Amino acid sequence: MAPLTTLGIGGPARWFVEAASEGEVAEACECARERGVPLFVLGGGSNVLVSDSGFNGLVLRVAIESLELKGELLRASAGVAWERCVEQSTIAGLAGIECLAGIPGTVGGTPVQNVGAYGQEVASVIDRVRAFDRMAHEFVEFSNAECGFAYRKSRFNSTDRGRYVVTQVDYRLRRRGAPALAYGDLKAYFREWKRQPSLTEVADAVREIRRSKGMLLVKGDPDCRSAGSFFKNPAIVPEAAERVRKFAAHTGVSVRMFAADGGRVKIPAAWLIEHAGFAKGYAMGAAGISSRHTLALINRGGATSAEILALAGKIRKAVEDKFGIKLEMEPERVGF
Ligand SMILES: Cc1cc2nc3c(=O)[nH]c(=O)nc-3n(C[C@H](O)[C@H](O)[C@H](O)COP(=O)(O)OP(=O)(O)OC[C@H]3O[C@@H](n4cnc5c(N)ncnc54)[C@H](O)[C@@H]3O)c2cc1C
Repeated sequence: MAPLTTLGIGGPARWFVEAASEGEVAEACECARERGVPLFVLGGGSNVLVSDSGFNGLVLRVAIESLELKGELLRASAGVAWERCVEQSTIAGLAGIECLAGIPGTVGGTPVQNVGAYGQEVASVIDRVRAFDRMAHEFVEFSNAECGFAYRKSRFNSTDRGRYVVTQVDYRLRRRGAPALAYGDLKAYFREWKRQPSLTEVADAVREIRRSKGMLLVKGDPDCRSAGSFFKNPAIVPEAAERVRKFAAHTGVSVRMFAADGGRVKIPAAWLIEHAGFAKGYAMGAAGISSRHTLALINRGGATSAEILALAGKIRKAVEDKFGIKLEMEPERVGF
């Protein structure tokens, strides 16, 4: 499965099928069910860490590809590359996903972890998600509220993990909407501009910023052989935040924190990792930290999933020992 993932890691799938229609999705699920075979749904492979021994079951790759723009509604099948959606919508003058430019993967992957970046997330534009229910063996539709979206979370990667195969997503965008310029890096990019940038200019700026951080898939860039951010930004209790603040004051460094749900405080995982002793470019065998982004663990060439997990474990332990905060992994582990 290595060539089907952006990390370039993973052993073989016992069975593999590419479904180009909803009928084929249902057929593949039925086939796995009848034989009692575990099934894993693969999109663009940009948010997975596949085991070196592969997956002992059926890997179903959703390859349904249709994209339709009707008024402010963008309807896309699960196999469409996400970047195509961003391109089409920004060209059409529809706001809502311009800051999500340059995120690899497919439409089907976007509701799963509520993809987000640079001040936007898909939860704010998803209207409906159509999916195949592997338990009830029928197609179902979820409204936005039924998807249970939160930070990097939805019912699809939490309570109902593995139950649904997403086949289509409707995004409700805004005609003549202003581009979202909420994020620091983006604001800085346009600081000198005398006019409001267009949606395509904002999307291009996001791609450029991403490229500079190795967070855009660029052929030959060793820093993008990753699964994006490897850890989620933790939402910690106020006492833990206080400990971090004290540490920062004591060592004379600044730390940015943000209010999160339930009185919690969100803190950048990258900050914790750096102050636990890991610099950009840190290497441990063939696994490493991107030289331009502390949150991205990379395959430096020939890395195994065991090496990536060993590095992740070392980072988690150091952060926990130093700050008492447990980092949670973002990519899905497959075949472990
Ligand atoms: C360089 C780089 C930068 C990134 N930047 C960001 C970022 O800024 N923000 C962000 O949120 N993410 C980011 N990511 C992570 C990743 O791109 C997204 O999470 C993406 O949406 C994953 O989609 P995918 O199709 O590749 O899913 P996959 O990696 O194939 O799968 C991920 C999960 O989604 C499930 N899944 C995929 N398709 C379906 C489907 N049709 N039905 C049901 N389940 C499905 C899989 O079973 C798995 O659990 C980045 C990754 C890389 C490599």
